[in-house]
Amino acid sequence: MARLHERLSEVYAEVLDRNPGEGEFHQAVIEVLGSLGPVVVKHPEYTDAGVIRRLCEPERQIIFRVPWVDDSGRVQINRGFRVEFNSALGPYKGGLRFHPSVNVGIVKFLGFEQIFKNSLTGMPIGGGKGGSDFDPKGRSDGEVMRFCQAFMTELYRHIGEYTDVPAGDIGVGGREIGYLFGQYKRITNRYESGALTGKGIAWGGSQMRREATGYGAVFFVREILRNRRDSFEGKRVVVSGSGNVAIYAMEKVTELGGTVVACSDSSGFIVDEKGVDLDLVKEIKEVRRARISEYVDYRGTAHHVEDRSVWEVGCDIAVPCATQNELDAADAASLIGGGCSIVAEGANMPCTPEAIGSFTDAGVTFVPGKAANAGGVATSALEMQQNASRDSWTFEHTEERLAEIMRGIHDRCAETADEYGSPGDFVAGANIAGFIQVADAMLALGVI
Ligand code: NDP
Repeated sequence: MARLHERLSEVYAEVLDRNPGEGEFHQAVIEVLGSLGPVVVKHPEYTDAGVIRRLCEPERQIIFRVPWVDDSGRVQINRGFRVEFNSALGPYKGGLRFHPSVNVGIVKFLGFEQIFKNSLTGMPIGGGKGGSDFDPKGRSDGEVMRFCQAFMTELYRHIGEYTDVPAGDIGVGGREIGYLFGQYKRITNRYESGALTGKGIAWGGSQMRREATGYGAVFFVREILRNRRDSFEGKRVVVSGSGNVAIYAMEKVTELGGTVVACSDSSGFIVDEKGVDLDLVKEIKEVRRARISEYVDYRGTAHHVEDRSVWEVGCDIAVPCATQNELDAADAASLIGGGCSIVAEGANMPCTPEAIGSFTDAGVTFVPGKAANAGGVATSALEMQQNASRDSWTFEHTEERLAEIMRGIHDRCAETADEYGSPGDFVAGANIAGFIQVADAMLALGVI
């Protein structure tokens, strides 16, 4: 990465000093600051008004105890987080993650990314993120429900349709949103649909929310291919993860004529040269909540691999959809060696800075998560619109809106990269376009 502009390195030094030990947060900040050099030269007003320093400091950080009782009658204590990062453009908006690795640094990295992603959608939503170190794996349905109720018993006082609107993320899908919304409704005595997104279709949810992040990432890649006068037809695609984002990315790739040859979970990956059978993956991961390794018990064409990287499987297009820093320089080298020409991040920050550097050097088109996976939050904003007008759109209409939004994000990133002297650089385009809209709003709202 190029040297930071002097005024930006002062900001970064302050971030390191004020947030010790929060490696992922530092990584997310430097990735954005690294793109802003030409912006502060052209617009010194942003640094003069302390906009970038203010952007790096969350407006509010909430940490709370979550006590609940497990099936054997033991009291369990988890830690809950909500980081309300920036509300210049609208209410805080961003998911909740339930995973044992969650800590304040992870939530801050995700909340920081969310500010720029939400801005890129062009919708009136600020950035926030939350979660808990609770591990839903191996927990009964009753335990998950009691945990969600305990979590919401504290969180409810901080959220609301005009304040902060959480959604799902790793470990938080339709089931968890149901329990969280149920408890919110019970405590507040209000059927305030707009307080949470990712709800079930029958009770205020939007068609397509479940599919939106994965579909959106694939729509973004379709735009890149279209500009090359190419398509998904005949392309080999590798997707990591087999959760919400991964499953629907694979679905859309397949629908558009590509072949997904591999996907993974945290215990390994499967390769199926005939094309991954999505009904089977859904049955294993969504219904039975089991391991992806079971896939090979039902498909003779597939094999399962442990202790190796899914990125060793050769492909034309890679869509990492599992978690942060899952794809490093060695993986990037495997992908480049295997002929991959496009990497689009379905997950948040799955590629390490070294991996991104390798892609850039090798001429691989790289799309950062804040652009590629913005379809999820954009569809959440559409859910908020439907809730506000007590309306409900069809699947087809919502998908059309999503495709239009992803095309808009693609074009804005490409045009901004051109304008600031980095044609074809989606990292610069996404960071700069996302930043300018928030920064202008912050300037207009004064020092608050
Ligand atoms: P899910 O919990 O549905 O799925 C996560 C998948 O990633 C699972 O297959 C899981 O495997 C795997 N995974 C998780 N942690 C690890 C790890 N440490 N190593 C290897 N594999 C791992 O989450 P989502 O699909 O919702 O989220 C995936 C990513 O997409 C995250 O980065 C999230 O922040 C991002 N994202 C999600 C959005 C959404 O709408 N859901 C929106 C925008 C971004 P296993 O089952 O073994 O745990």
